Amino acid sequence: MNKKALIIGTGLGGLSTALRLTSKGYQVEMVEKYHRAGGRLNLLEKGGFKFDMAPTFFSMSYEFKELVDYCNMTMPFEFVELDPLYSVHFEGDKRSYLIYKDLQKLALEFQAIEPDFERKIKGFLKAAGEIFHDTENIVIQRNFNSVAHYLLKLTTVPIKHAPKMFYSMWREMERNFDSFEVKVIFSLVGFFLGATPFDTPAVYTLLNYTEMVHDGYHNVKGGMYKIVEGILQELEKRNVKIHYNTEIVGYTENKGRIQAFTDRSGKAWTADLFVVNADAAGFRGSIMKRPEFSQKQLDSRKWTLAPLTIYLGLDTKVPNMYHHNYFLRRNFEEYAGKIFKNQIKLDKPYYYVNIQSMHNPNYAPEGKECLFILCPVPDLRYKSDWSDSGEIADSIIQDLSERTGFNFQEHTEVKVILSPVQWEEMFGLYRGSGLGLAHDLNQVGGFRPKNKDEKLDNLYYVGASTIPGTGLPMTVISSRLVTERILKDHGIVPKK
Ligand SMILES: Cc1cc2nc3c(=O)[nH]c(=O)nc-3n(C[C@H](O)[C@H](O)[C@H](O)COP(=O)(O)OP(=O)(O)OC[C@H]3O[C@@H](n4cnc5c(N)ncnc54)[C@H](O)[C@@H]3O)c2cc1C
Repeated sequence: MNKKALIIGTGLGGLSTALRLTSKGYQVEMVEKYHRAGGRLNLLEKGGFKFDMAPTFFSMSYEFKELVDYCNMTMPFEFVELDPLYSVHFEGDKRSYLIYKDLQKLALEFQAIEPDFERKIKGFLKAAGEIFHDTENIVIQRNFNSVAHYLLKLTTVPIKHAPKMFYSMWREMERNFDSFEVKVIFSLVGFFLGATPFDTPAVYTLLNYTEMVHDGYHNVKGGMYKIVEGILQELEKRNVKIHYNTEIVGYTENKGRIQAFTDRSGKAWTADLFVVNADAAGFRGSIMKRPEFSQKQLDSRKWTLAPLTIYLGLDTKVPNMYHHNYFLRRNFEEYAGKIFKNQIKLDKPYYYVNIQSMHNPNYAPEGKECLFILCPVPDLRYKSDWSDSGEIADSIIQDLSERTGFNFQEHTEVKVILSPVQWEEMFGLYRGSGLGLAHDLNQVGGFRPKNKDEKLDNLYYVGASTIPGTGLPMTVISSRLVTERILKDHGIVPKK
């Protein structure tokens, strides 16, 4: 009889672990608290419109290729590469900047504000690329048995990168560029990590290399949710059963092993081994009751910004906008320094707009448009009352209308607003933090919550808050790392 694995959570981490384990002969069953699979990579449907709920693009597309090869299946969805990557709008500036991967074209965008841009960006990206290639296999793509093992591995990273662990991404921008706009634009990747460029170490400029040179950004033909639908179809072929509306709230153990997890109705879920795709830190606190992950301990850690998300279905097409757009202001340093802690008013925020039906016409009825607005906001530790989310959303929509000259309010047919309160409720995101634990150097690699439980032998973790970190490709890598861990524990030599 094949060993049985129970996976708690159907985020991308849980789904890709299910694929890998079934490929290795495990029998897999899944439980999910939400009514639909995908976790944050989810779908919202209202009034004839569809919306990708959170991720709208991703880097390192080759990680999906690795996944399907590992699982001996064909790619169940089609990538669409973004080029230009996105457009950036600064308050009070009539023009916007299109971020092309072609550096000559990009230099034309900045010729009026950053002399000698092409030479500067080439030098900057060369250094960022070296960090990426010198660390990817050492820090990102592997399991660590202990902090000492991790630190030992770190000693094999070329010493020339060491200073960039100790100064900020923003300082690296200042070392390379002169214009405010260029510095701000290339430091936006700090926000993709859910932090700010002022508190993100300069080593993370490796993300500039991944976006501009290495693999760029992609989304998926027909919408991001095609990733989930494709994986679900494959899991069905592999007889994986998923039980929705099933929230795990407790467990029983016996002789150092999990005996069963229990759901809200009291039903016990048994298996030979268990993989938790819920937040690896939050779950250890709320369900496993580990003192090192108590609420006080978790609150003292650094978490990524929470999302305020707005979904609009419009009765007409939006003219003159690109698919992916950032709307920024001039008080960048002040805003970044204060937004996390709710020390600045949210009436003039920074935000991102994705016109989803431009890539995916099937997301809106003929002649109509649907769009997604993401505004990074303080998590529930710093702002617990979100009864003003409607007001904040309205001021963002008003600002967007003024800055684009298109009246979004007037054309709105469908409007959905999700505050950090809902994000926490829907998917169990700790304090509503959008990307999970932050990526400070004391929270990555050997310092991140491990993918194998500290105490119980048959309990594992996968997803954004365990190794290697957050974002779709990282979650896919996380599923490989936990699978390797499980296979090793069961005496099976993992595939290289
Ligand atoms: C607004 C937003 C925008 C983003 N944009 C991007 C982007 O553009 N590109 C990108 O690469 N990444 C993006 N991300 C990050 C990306 O979505 C995540 O890193 C990734 O989806 C995390 O996957 P996961 O499997 O770790 O966890 P999740 O997707 O959170 O899945 C965990 C699952 O476990 C379930 N669960 C939790 N607790 C329990 C329980 N007790 N019992 C049963 N089930 C439980 C949850 O309901 C959920 O379905 C974004 C995130 C947000 C919030």
